[in-house]
Amino acid sequence: MALDYMLGLSEQAACIAYPDLDFDPPKRDKQAIKAAQDVCFSCPIRWECLLYAWETDIPNGIWGGAYFEQRNLMATLLGLSRLAPIQESLETIKRFTSSTRK
Ligand code: SF4
Repeated sequence: MALDYMLGLSEQAACIAYPDLDFDPPKRDKQAIKAAQDVCFSCPIRWECLLYAWETDIPNGIWGGAYFEQRNLMATLLGLSRLAPIQESLETIKRFTSSTRK
């Protein structure tokens, strides 16, 4: 389900424009992490990407601007369920992020 959803959006991925950027840098390389996250933070499908990586339990890389542990933490804090429809999880994330921006 999540994969089908992501494939439908993949042309919007901001990282397409950065083929040489490392989205799985070593955690000690703060500069490389920031470079990857800056692209993710401006990506129009950031939350879809993060949810896809979380739902499919991808263990490595920065997806949606977050590492594996960060994705799991966010899902736990927001009470997300892998059994829920992706639209429902997206709405939960978007509600949370818009409420924290005020
Ligand atoms: S959130 Fe980051 S890794 Fe995911 S599609 Fe967008 S730019 Fe690529």
